[in-house]
Amino acid sequence: MEHKLSIYNSLHRKKERFVPLHSPNVGLYVCGPTVYGDAHLGHARPAITFDMLFRYLMHLGYVVRYVRNITDVGHLENDADEGEDKVAKKARLEQLEPMEIAQYYINRYHKAMEALNVLRPSIEPQASGHIIDQIALVQKILDEGFAYESNGSVYFDVEKYNHRYHYGKLSGRNIDEMMEATRELDGQSEKRRSVDFALWKKASPEHIMRWDSPWSVGFPGWHLECSAMSIKYLGEEFDIHGGGMDLLFPHHECEIAQSCAALKKESVHYWMHNNMITINGQKMGKSLGNFITLEEFSTGKHTLLQQPYSPMTIRFFILQAHYRSTVDFSNEALQASERGLERLTEGYERLKKLTPGATSSIEMPDTRTRCEEAMCDDLNTPVAIAHLFEALKIINAVHDGKATVSQADLTELQSVFKLYMEDLLALTSETAGESNSEAYKKAVDLLLNIRLEAKKNKDWATSDRIRNELTALGFEIKDTKDSFEWKL
Ligand code: ZN
Repeated sequence: MEHKLSIYNSLHRKKERFVPLHSPNVGLYVCGPTVYGDAHLGHARPAITFDMLFRYLMHLGYVVRYVRNITDVGHLENDADEGEDKVAKKARLEQLEPMEIAQYYINRYHKAMEALNVLRPSIEPQASGHIIDQIALVQKILDEGFAYESNGSVYFDVEKYNHRYHYGKLSGRNIDEMMEATRELDGQSEKRRSVDFALWKKASPEHIMRWDSPWSVGFPGWHLECSAMSIKYLGEEFDIHGGGMDLLFPHHECEIAQSCAALKKESVHYWMHNNMITINGQKMGKSLGNFITLEEFSTGKHTLLQQPYSPMTIRFFILQAHYRSTVDFSNEALQASERGLERLTEGYERLKKLTPGATSSIEMPDTRTRCEEAMCDDLNTPVAIAHLFEALKIINAVHDGKATVSQADLTELQSVFKLYMEDLLALTSETAGESNSEAYKKAVDLLLNIRLEAKKNKDWATSDRIRNELTALGFEIKDTKDSFEWKL
């Protein structure tokens, strides 16, 4: 395949040329959400980042198997080995079945992602549906001698693993220092060392999500599902593993250790991590009260929001930054994105209607090649967007009658804009957010009110024109006494 896609590999801390294992097939695994609450801005970034990668790999001609999991069991509070299961806790508070909670938030997550133009993955496995695979993986790690059983639970032996392999290679953490800092385990804990992590936990009597296993009735540790499900669906070795930078340690470090201990080899070729979103310079956190859900963004109903923001504005805002840089949310920044996206969308609409001249009166930049170069350079979306804005100047000049473009140049420009606006950056939306659909309803109402006035004034030409053109667009219009009804 003729391209020069390079991606930053977190494992080697440098950009590397992307060479797939089994071209044209590519395996991509991304850590998905834990389903115990509504998706917020922090969920939007990894979803959009890896949607961009998924779309771009397909654009390059690859056949991508994209696996994004759903964590519905085993993710305990504080991301630690102790505490209540996040899904089970929500179920207890709501007096619902844990799987009811999981399904409820899965449905809402899908709806939120659809509004953001995030494509569904090829496979979306749930941890609770893969307990057998996880038990088999624990057994394999035990057989290889890198885990131990303690009071019905099974823990990963980090020190022993580190003697053979290298624990900490992804996060750059020094295992000796970590052991030094966490030396004092007083024999009260089931773990030998506090750096050890649970592969299987024996369920306490009140823990309702539980399965039989050779060691106890219990549940899998949080890190285990991603190793088990990536191996199951993508094979022992696969191309790309992605996720947010907050998952780099301990989650991804533990995943590497588990897979390596079981398979005696490195499973993942490229590790990719998107950076975090801060809100007014602060980390997002429940305790800080700055967790803004995607639904709150589209309604504008949150104390930190000055107005509603459409899902396309959120998508554009995220793509305007490189995925490895931090993004700070503020109303000013989102309003700037909203205006930028409006200009781009308006330009795209103008472009569709431009008429070509005999020749191009100005030199046309090679927008396609420039965008392609930016995207191949570790998915540099902000640079690609900047090239679209450059091209926008030409579109507007032609629109204003200050320049002309030839048919060939016009066709090329239209094709590049369609590719980026609709297929890759995917900034146009049929399923636009509520604020947009509100505006659209109002616009139809406005037209039909003008028609009503026209009828009153016996201006049948205008009245018929509005009716006929809306009908041609697929609207059904019904005249009622003194008013109207319509539907699409
Ligand atoms: Zn994961």
